[in-house]
Amino acid sequence: MAKFPSATILGYPRIGHNRELKRLEEAYWLGKTQKKEFLQDTKELRIQTYKHLRDLGLSEDFSIPQSFSYYDQVLDASCLFNIVPKRFQHLAAGLTIDDYFTIARGDTSLGENGLPAEMTKWFDTNYHYIVPEFTPETKIAINFNQVTQQFLEAKEAGFLVRPVIVGPVTLLALAKFENVTPYDFIDDLATAYAELLGDLCKNGARWVQFDEPALFAETLHLSTDELFEIADKLYRKIYTLKHDNPDKPQVFVTTPYACAGKYAERLTHLPVEALHYDFTECGTKVLENVDASHKVLVAGLINGRNIWRMNDDAIQEKLNVLQKHIPPYWLRISTSTSLQHVPHTLDAETELTDELKSNLSFADEKIAEVLALSGVVGQNRAPKQELKGRKVTEVSERLANIKDTDFERESVTERKNAQHKVLNLSLLPTTTIGSFPQTSDIRVTRSSYKKQEITEAEYTSAMQAKIKECIDLQEEIGLDVMVHGEAERNDMVQYFAENFEGFAVTKNGWVQSYGSRSTKPSILWGDVWRKKAFTVPWITYADSLTEKPVKGMLTGPVTILAWSFVRDDQPKGVTANQVALALRDEIADLETAGIKIIQIDEPALRELLPLKLKDQKAYIDWSVASFRLATSGVKKETQIHTHLCYSEFEVILPAIIGLNADVTSIEAARSKMEIVAQLVDAKYPTGIGPGIYDIHSPRIPSKDELKALLLKAVKDFKDGNMDLTNLWVNPDCGLKTRRNEESTPSLVNMVQATLEVRNML
Ligand code: GLN
Ligand code: ZN
Repeated sequence: MAKFPSATILGYPRIGHNRELKRLEEAYWLGKTQKKEFLQDTKELRIQTYKHLRDLGLSEDFSIPQSFSYYDQVLDASCLFNIVPKRFQHLAAGLTIDDYFTIARGDTSLGENGLPAEMTKWFDTNYHYIVPEFTPETKIAINFNQVTQQFLEAKEAGFLVRPVIVGPVTLLALAKFENVTPYDFIDDLATAYAELLGDLCKNGARWVQFDEPALFAETLHLSTDELFEIADKLYRKIYTLKHDNPDKPQVFVTTPYACAGKYAERLTHLPVEALHYDFTECGTKVLENVDASHKVLVAGLINGRNIWRMNDDAIQEKLNVLQKHIPPYWLRISTSTSLQHVPHTLDAETELTDELKSNLSFADEKIAEVLALSGVVGQNRAPKQELKGRKVTEVSERLANIKDTDFERESVTERKNAQHKVLNLSLLPTTTIGSFPQTSDIRVTRSSYKKQEITEAEYTSAMQAKIKECIDLQEEIGLDVMVHGEAERNDMVQYFAENFEGFAVTKNGWVQSYGSRSTKPSILWGDVWRKKAFTVPWITYADSLTEKPVKGMLTGPVTILAWSFVRDDQPKGVTANQVALALRDEIADLETAGIKIIQIDEPALRELLPLKLKDQKAYIDWSVASFRLATSGVKKETQIHTHLCYSEFEVILPAIIGLNADVTSIEAARSKMEIVAQLVDAKYPTGIGPGIYDIHSPRIPSKDELKALLLKAVKDFKDGNMDLTNLWVNPDCGLKTRRNEESTPSLVNMVQATLEVRNML
């Protein structure tokens, strides 16, 4: 039997140190490169990554995870096992890489039948996966098998890597089911996983990793008991099927993102050879109760999803407890999660202070920590330095003096009447979420300004020209509520990080968000405050160009936290309130400047929701409070909007209502407006804009398709006796990542569809 490596990581970023994967994919999608070249270049990227990981010290057999993905690890597993959405069944026979991309990105030429698969957040992270769809047509079988192929390719290059696949329980737990249930697929899925194991083993893989984060996440459609019932059946069957295999395939099950809690012991009953627990989420009590009884126990001690350097004392304490309970022969060290959530290396960060850098660890530095902790090599980093300037007295004093009334506004009705007098909007007002396409000229202007190639005055007039273009376009399309287009913002969080105190911005700290898209989280390391107004000049300029209302656009405190790497030396709620006060100042300045609608985006509200039910109330309390603290300083005439980026919101609906915004836009197009009926059921009290145009796909929705979606929403509203003046029309999300060729005709169709529906009312 092959020994499990002493030290490992659950996964490594696959985007490449300089986002090579993005460039390769986008060139291929645009037809600028041929398939052969694309496959060769991505193979090169994988091999270089393995080489790099070996150089860092992951030199034992099977210590390097084979965790590459062309788009998403869940989609990899779906395609591997032939779980193809019904509308793409015609592709199922002999799936290719192109079909795989089609499922992820949609196919405009097929109309409704070309809709991409739904995408949603992966546990409580900012990574998005493609939702598997099971229907009566689903026939499980090995199909698009990149796993074996990539294993062989690595082996040929001299690396015995460890294949990583989303495990069967998690695949079922994250999927959608139409006229079938997860239980219908247990046998076939077990058979297919066993077949894959056999295939991998025949080719030389001795350890195969199945990621099963669903097991301890309590926020899924199945309870933990149901998940374990499914897990027992699946893994027992896999075990039976693989039992006679002379190659001795060994299975390693991981459970990142959540603490095992009272189910820790239950996991040990799965008939697999190695188990992983996320110990960063657990206190030492759980460690004392873990007994893997003759299985390898892989302790996820190094935090795989934050960027803070390990706290030597706290980790050593946990390790001591583990060593007391687990014989050395069975104990191994790893990260708590895949490192796909952190940037590659601090080496690229030439602009961060040494002081701050000495407190950080990115992926490569975390690998050094894992190796040091497992005793493979010594840790030879200079000691941590104290972060001077972290505490600002004025900030803590202001926070200590906030009153209950700072979180309250007038009643919904009072606000509604006052706003109606000021705004007087027509029925079904149309608007967008904020950003317009970030064309290359915009990006070039921003970067020339950053490199000081153009003056501030030149930059301002170039951006104003863009704002004018954007307002003119919206006038022409006929939108009712305008936006300035956000051309000056590289990223909706980084822009605020750059303008607030207490943040640092990285040069190359990219993290995959979905597919070829990455974000660059800022580092929130100190107390947050605002020096001066920064959005006001842009918004008031836009406002001066049109008679229609222009929305002031801000990013909310929870999202600023969720999409930054946040200090871990004080409760998140305290940090969130500091950000809220800085935003409150900006909101006050916008209002004084005459802006009548202010949108504070909170797309990440759901994402930070703890996976454990017992932790959720406290989270909802502080997150809702911080939004209210930011927004409750305005007069009743000022309309507060917010925007949320997902459609699965049952669990968080009370929190959304708690935000007390006047209008909320929300994702809905990919799930065909299913959410409207749910909102009606919940008697949603304020304005709502269910997104009818899916901006995550290049597809242009037709006027009739949009009209049908809108009519569905209107009908649900009427059936539920809801106030139709509360229904807004907008896309799913910002248009930043789209091209004008895609967004303009889509918006035209959206407005035309709305006009037709208005005429019918
Ligand atoms: N206002 C932002 C935009 O339009 C919102 C983006 C988001 O929700 N992610 O880009
Ligand atoms: Zn959004």
